[in-house]
Amino acid sequence: MAEPPNWLNLDHVWLPYAQMADAPLPLPVVSAAGVRLKLADGRQLIDGISSWWTACHGYNHPHIVAAVQKQAAQLSHVMFAGLAHEPAYTLAARLAALLPGDLDHVFFSESGSVSVEIALKMALQFWRNRGETARRKVLAFRHGYHGDTFMAMAVTDPAVGMHDSFRGIVPPALLAELPTAAATGAALDELLEREAPQLAAVIVEPLVQGAGGLRMHDAATLARIRAACDRHHLLLIADEIMTGFGRSGTLFACEQAAVVPDIVCLSKALTAGTLPLAATVARRHVFAAFLGSEFGRALMHGPTFMANALACAAANASLDLFESEPRLAQVAAIAAQLARELEPCRALPGVVDVRVKGAVGVVELAGPAAGLRSAFVERGVWLRPFGNVVYVMPPFVVDATDLTALTTAICEVVADWSRHAAHEAHGREAHDVV
Ligand SMILES: *Cc1c(COP(=O)(O)O)cnc(C)c1O
Repeated sequence: MAEPPNWLNLDHVWLPYAQMADAPLPLPVVSAAGVRLKLADGRQLIDGISSWWTACHGYNHPHIVAAVQKQAAQLSHVMFAGLAHEPAYTLAARLAALLPGDLDHVFFSESGSVSVEIALKMALQFWRNRGETARRKVLAFRHGYHGDTFMAMAVTDPAVGMHDSFRGIVPPALLAELPTAAATGAALDELLEREAPQLAAVIVEPLVQGAGGLRMHDAATLARIRAACDRHHLLLIADEIMTGFGRSGTLFACEQAAVVPDIVCLSKALTAGTLPLAATVARRHVFAAFLGSEFGRALMHGPTFMANALACAAANASLDLFESEPRLAQVAAIAAQLARELEPCRALPGVVDVRVKGAVGVVELAGPAAGLRSAFVERGVWLRPFGNVVYVMPPFVVDATDLTALTTAICEVVADWSRHAAHEAHGREAHDVV
């Protein structure tokens, strides 16, 4: 293997979710196009993760590149209070038109976690503005993940393991099992019956729980949650940061259950992996609770880079591509191919489950999977197993041949693990995260 480039060392950069004492050097990427990452030594990797689930149209799509370049030449950023720019206002209107029901009021921010913070602020202040000041808690679900900032950590299942260091500091959320069947539905109802007077909202990742282990539930589960929120007069926050923009098979996962949440969080694929941007979108009745003659009723939030013009231009260009290119058909084809090509893993000793929803394919193992990362790079693919799961979330533009390269690598690496590693003691504990 070639020497790393001279700028690559860990003297000054602190890596995400990494034990810096023995963190391996990351792979230097010099460019990317379509589904391929080009490394400094000339090797190319087929990307099976879409850069933490963002690059839905692949890398360097000419339409998005052109839109960002044009916007950069005109106006990269301007503060969003007192000043306005067309890309943000157009994007807000387009998101409102695409989202179900009367999810019409768009509040921009710059990351998924912050969009969750804003959704929680909206939900808590919604009740406060209506005089119901006892409603200060939020119910979340086991295995859920909603981000790394403090309130987002508070509604993340502590067992997900990314936030152990903050136990005792972050207020524990009320955690419930997902109502995947009538019995757990009844249990949720009972819990809500008891807790509703102190609750402001319920937060859920619809259909696929991401960083908590890529667990999947059906549309009926989501419909049960909506119905329970209606019965107990609670706001429903759908965290579609991972599922939004086609990943689950429909543009938004909530559509599959014909559910309209009261607040939706969007980020990850919003700009197709080009620039940081997020949106918290509220229904009309939520927005209405903030209106009035007193300034104190207003939503008190305003990030410096709110509605960055470059990011909004990228997001508009990404939405163009959902209109002009057959993305959802591609997702359906990816889903069918993943189901077919990952299925052989199911019979391997130590494989707990194989599951697919939209362009998300998962092979769950009986033991930690993070140790398998280097085996994928050796096979020319970029996959990053975490916890007990090996998973693939390719850009939607992946062709059948490249997708087969990804699933073949998964089947081979999991088969090797099943033959050998499954019988050995694993050094590292399951602290590895996404
Ligand atoms: C990634 C993610 C977040 C956090 O988004 P960041 O941009 O990393 O802050 C929140 N919720 C879900 C479901 C996510 O997948």
